[in-house]
Amino acid sequence: MESLLVKESPLLLPLNKEKTVYDGFITVQERDFRIRILLPPDHQLKLAKLHCCWQLKQLLCAYGHIVKQRLHHSPDLVSFVLELKTILEVALKSRPDCRSIPPPQYYSQLIIEMEDLGWDKLVSIDTEFRTLRLRAEDSSGRQHVVTVKLKPKHPVEAPECSADLPVPLAMTWTPQSSLGHVHTQFLLLLESLAEFWAVLDEIDEKTWVLEPEKPSRADTMRRIAIANNVSIKVEVDTRHPKMLPECCLLGAEHAVTPLRNKLNANMHLWNLDCSILQNLRDVLEIEFPSPATHEKSSFSVECGICYAYRLESAIPDQVCNDPRCGQPFHQACLYEWLRGLPSSRQSFNIVFGECPYCSKQFSMEIREEREREGEKEYNYGC
Ligand SMILES: [Zn+2]
Ligand SMILES: [Zn+2]
Repeated sequence: MESLLVKESPLLLPLNKEKTVYDGFITVQERDFRIRILLPPDHQLKLAKLHCCWQLKQLLCAYGHIVKQRLHHSPDLVSFVLELKTILEVALKSRPDCRSIPPPQYYSQLIIEMEDLGWDKLVSIDTEFRTLRLRAEDSSGRQHVVTVKLKPKHPVEAPECSADLPVPLAMTWTPQSSLGHVHTQFLLLLESLAEFWAVLDEIDEKTWVLEPEKPSRADTMRRIAIANNVSIKVEVDTRHPKMLPECCLLGAEHAVTPLRNKLNANMHLWNLDCSILQNLRDVLEIEFPSPATHEKSSFSVECGICYAYRLESAIPDQVCNDPRCGQPFHQACLYEWLRGLPSSRQSFNIVFGECPYCSKQFSMEIREEREREGEKEYNYGC
């Protein structure tokens, strides 16, 4: 019987010659639980006393009656320990918070991989040593961070990686891979996006970007101020960042029409060797206001109805077409206003009414707008 117990639970050993006191650990799902078993002099199991560590107590609290029953019915200590292990396996399964802690090799492997990669690359690591943030610098000196979530079976199982990128972060992984491989692949991906970010960095640096408020490395859209209440929205292609992007001119008709005509007439001048900003200047025949020449406040005029600039994430992009008025409004505010007017009417997706400021005729197109944040949908139907 003794040799069987040693085989099944090598960490649980008798402490005295009479073999009435056993102490040590039982191992379930790669976790060790401290236990002490006190037997009466006649070794009768049903009178045995169990002293458990607090984790074991917690796990077994709902199984007390089963443990007692097994103590009564098990013919010897070996069979009881086996029964106890089965109960613990069931208990662990129903408690996802008691998930397994990685084996010691996991931590030594992690140290080896970090030593190979260089500790200077580590930005942070969580207290469980499972989530690492690694820094990487691209050839233009931009700083990036990749977040790596390691699996308990690392490196057999591939880690989950994420980063602030406009494209999916796909990593190839084999059981022989390491953090160094993640870093190398991340750097290669960064280099493939270098031109894309160069195009956007130039826009961010030399113009007033109205949207996004704080562009991240993943943002491909920029809404650039051209003049008070006139702006252009461009969607830059990550793979072909110098190509003519999807453009949308926004603002009062009298200001937007001449720009739209220029864009259409000069499109053939688009030069793939130049940046988007340079091309937009040439094609639209304008100079963009920049931080060097203008204050941003001159382009962020509040909505004439709610007197705020940002309404959730929307900015006032409905502009009165009368050149002497030119008051901007949020689409949502204006729609509420027009809907309340007895004189307003709606035809398909266009609402007609009067400007709240100058009482001139105002028409507003109701468009379905997918907000970037949270994909919120504005749908103004009747
Ligand atoms: Zn408003
Ligand atoms: Zn007006």
